[in-house]
Amino acid sequence: MFESAPTILIIEHDEQTRHDVQFILKGIGYHVVTAPRGLDGIDLARKINPDLIIVAMELPDLMGGELATTLRSESRFRETPMIVFMENDDATLRDMAFAAGINGHMVKPINLEALPFNIEFYMSGGTDSIDDTERLQVARSRFLQDVVKRLEERIRELEDKNETLERIDQMKDSFIQLTAHELRTPLTLITGYSRLLEDHPPMQELREKDEGMSTLIDGLVESITRMQGIIEEILTVSRIMTSQIELTLAPTNMSKLVRDVLHQYIDVIDERNLTVYFSEDEWPQSMRADGDLLRLTISNLVSNAIKYTPDGGEIRLHAQTKGKLLRFSVIDTGIGISEDQKSVIFERFHIGGAVETHTTSKTAFGGGGLGLGLAICKGIIEAHGGTITVESDGHDPDRLPGSAFIVILPVIANSSQNVFSTNKTGVLKRLARS
Ligand code: ADP
Repeated sequence: MFESAPTILIIEHDEQTRHDVQFILKGIGYHVVTAPRGLDGIDLARKINPDLIIVAMELPDLMGGELATTLRSESRFRETPMIVFMENDDATLRDMAFAAGINGHMVKPINLEALPFNIEFYMSGGTDSIDDTERLQVARSRFLQDVVKRLEERIRELEDKNETLERIDQMKDSFIQLTAHELRTPLTLITGYSRLLEDHPPMQELREKDEGMSTLIDGLVESITRMQGIIEEILTVSRIMTSQIELTLAPTNMSKLVRDVLHQYIDVIDERNLTVYFSEDEWPQSMRADGDLLRLTISNLVSNAIKYTPDGGEIRLHAQTKGKLLRFSVIDTGIGISEDQKSVIFERFHIGGAVETHTTSKTAFGGGGLGLGLAICKGIIEAHGGTITVESDGHDPDRLPGSAFIVILPVIANSSQNVFSTNKTGVLKRLARS
């Protein structure tokens, strides 16, 4: 109806004033948009480009003058009429509003009868007359001082809030760590009891006779093992996140380490008909590193590659040493990772989605994990002074673009301690059960 009607933006915290003014202005044909807070008002102004802006002198988040200065600094608002609604006719505040770029003022309670005439006056380019330029100069510098003071207050407030958030974050980390610790003790006992139960001769007899009982016991042991894994994962990640990670550096045979990890998954690799390519002699046979933690990293990357690659797919592990850097990658032909996920998957508890393409992975890994694996990998690699990144041509369970996780690690060789025997193959080979 008012398609060609001028648009007025009212930025006013007081609901009654906002409502009354909107009612009158709409009644005489203006298109009216409102915002109760300054920052929302600025966003709206940028979106709708209003023909006139009314702003309250005092808003919960900004002063009217600050809002006016912000908008006036943008070329499209340089000529837009801006009016301030003042609590009282304070000459100093009014001058400061003018210094900030306001064209006119009205004092609350707003005279609703005079409102249409006033708005028309300002809409057609009218401004309040400012005769005393010296007074305006004084107001301008006072306004600037005021803005600086408020900025300082805001910075202090934000610093306080930040400190509180950091403290809460630390409390959360300690809480997670403490809970995981507390859970670990009874769980160790439960594991012990379940083993005893498994080995108990009458139970073994019962298992032989009763298939249902056997399945129950297997399920119980499997779940306990999985729960232990989760608790260990949480403890490791909380140590990494609270920078309590301590590397135990020792000569590490990377090719043996990777081979061991792959053998750990040999059953699921067979069951899922996956082909794994890995050439032992690409990997350093002796470098200083924390072997246990690197094993955990590679294990996480391989388990993800298995988890997110449909049956019959391929996984490749490559390594290359250049100067003092080892670059290794775990590449799969799986469902891939979308552009927006790439930046967040290394965060704690981030889970990208369901393991939807195949069912067998659900038996092997119980579906997706906790979203801790990559956070652990990142913490470990960074503690070694390295980097971990991901490359993928998007997420697509049909096209299967695959993913490549690339790790770069500084190599500190241990040439004097060549204590590891190696089994060089020299070619890419399909991993075979040994
Ligand atoms: P989770 O234990 O859930 O697998 P991770 O931290 O290891 O947690 O991985 C986080 C998310 O990153 C996963 O939920 C998954 O969406 C995505 N992701 C990790 N590895 C791969 C991969 N090889 N292919 C596709 N997506 C992956």
